[in-house]
Amino acid sequence: MYARGLTYDIIRHAALTSGMDDAGIVAAQRWDDDALFMDEWVEQGLHGNMSYFERNQAKRYDIRELVPGARTVVVTLLTYEHSGHDYHRTVKSLLYQMKQTLAETCDCGQEMFSPTHQHIFCDSAPVLERRMAVAAGLGFIGRNHQLIHPRLGSRVHIGELVLQVDVEDDRGVKPTYSGATSCGECSRCIDACPGKALGRQEWDARRCIAYITHKCEICQQVCPYNEKLI
Ligand code: SF4
Ligand code: SF4
Repeated sequence: MYARGLTYDIIRHAALTSGMDDAGIVAAQRWDDDALFMDEWVEQGLHGNMSYFERNQAKRYDIRELVPGARTVVVTLLTYEHSGHDYHRTVKSLLYQMKQTLAETCDCGQEMFSPTHQHIFCDSAPVLERRMAVAAGLGFIGRNHQLIHPRLGSRVHIGELVLQVDVEDDRGVKPTYSGATSCGECSRCIDACPGKALGRQEWDARRCIAYITHKCEICQQVCPYNEKLI
C-alpha cells in the first residue's frame, strides 16, 4: 500500500532537516546474493570471533523477518564529525525526530510504523546496513569493506527507519557524484593494512586490528574518498 503524501523527496528532506547528512530509500526485501556471500564468509571462518554472524541469518538477510510488515527502509547517513561520542544515541535520536516529522507530514501518521516491533536501528540489530545503503543510492562498498559515499567518504554511521508502507520514488534522476562509484584501480587500503586483512574482494576479520583493539582506521585514513581528492 502506497502512503498518500509520502515520497522520496519528502523523506530525504525530513532526514536532512533532522540533522542527517544524507538519506535514501529501498524496498524491504531478501538479499539473496548477500546471503550466499555471507554464508560462505562465515563458513570459511573469516568472521573470527564475531559469533553473532552465525545467528539470526533469516532476519539479517530479510528485514521483513525482523520487522513483520516492513515495506520500505529509510537508510540514513550521519558523519562521524556530526555524531559525537555516543553515535548510537545521536543517530537514534535523529531517527526519532525524523519519524515524528514524517508522521505529522503523511496522512498515515503513526500507522506507517510497526506498533509491536522495534523499527529504528543503528548498528544494533542483524541488519545488512551497508547493503541497503548501497541499494538506497548512498554509495558503494569499497575495498576497505566500508560504505563509501562519494561526497561524505566512509566516515559515516548508518541508521534505518523501517516503514510499513510503500513509498513513491519520485527522484527524477538518481544522484550521481562525478562518476565516483567504485574504487577503480586503487588499492591503497589493501597495501596499507597492517594486518593484511583486506583483499580485492574479501575482508578477514581475524586479521583486522580494529576488531581486536578498536584502534585502527588506516584503511579509512588512506582512502582518497576521505581525503576528498576525488
Ligand atoms: S581497520 Fe586496520 S587492520 Fe582492519 S582492515 Fe582497516 S587497515 Fe586493516
Ligand atoms: S583506499 Fe582505494 S581501494 Fe581502498 S576503499 Fe578507498 S578507494 Fe577503494
